[in-house]
Amino acid sequence: MRRLLIAGNWKMNKTVPEALSLVRELKKLVSDVNDRDILVCPPFTALYPVGKELKGSNILLGAQNMFYEEKGAFTGEISPIMLKDVGASYVILGHSERRHIFGETDDLINKKVISAAKHGLTPILCVGELLEERERGETEVVVERQVREGLKGLSRESEFVIAYEPVWAIGTGKTATPEQAQEVHKFIRGLLSEIFDSEKAKRVRILYGGSVKPENAKSLLEMSDIDGALVGGASLKAESFSKIVKFD
Ligand code: 13P
Repeated sequence: MRRLLIAGNWKMNKTVPEALSLVRELKKLVSDVNDRDILVCPPFTALYPVGKELKGSNILLGAQNMFYEEKGAFTGEISPIMLKDVGASYVILGHSERRHIFGETDDLINKKVISAAKHGLTPILCVGELLEERERGETEVVVERQVREGLKGLSRESEFVIAYEPVWAIGTGKTATPEQAQEVHKFIRGLLSEIFDSEKAKRVRILYGGSVKPENAKSLLEMSDIDGALVGGASLKAESFSKIVKFD
């Protein structure tokens, strides 16, 4: 009932020529896929050319961040209107690197989520605990706060995606086991049921992120509450990303 979503977060990688060469190769490798959503999230500088290259293909375009205002004196920021303008339909918000390197708070992320939805962009709200928090048994407390605060004031009708990315699994080669991930995904779906209702909770896609690779994609994506993947490193090569897209 939930359509799979396999998303690539390129982070701060790829010049325009590199980005174009990656998506040209990817288009060929996944041209036969039509039963799941495929999304690439290039850096801002490559959004426009990549969006043009993807026109008419089965690959969607997303951004990795945005500011919540529409325009104005916000030096260095990018607005939801600008993202729509270059063909983006998704935006990753509250990624752990934004939270931890750039100090983004739940409150700021919430403003971005509301603004994205208002402008017709589907927010991908990222949540996840640090290693110390998991070791202290605080995974659920942290994830609950991030989900509740991140979605505060969002209407039931808004489309959104949650990405569970345990911080200790990002870029470390350490993946959560399918069972560990499933447990948190189920917990998040329960929260969505409390915040909205069970019908809405059943429809929201919850992605797993953190060292997803062709070798572990199948075991993760087969879990009942894992509806897709948010892939970092392995999305930078067309071959490995296409293998994750076609995991089964
Ligand atoms: P890696 O797949 O490189 O661990 O990154 C995960 C991630 O942060 C995706 O947003």
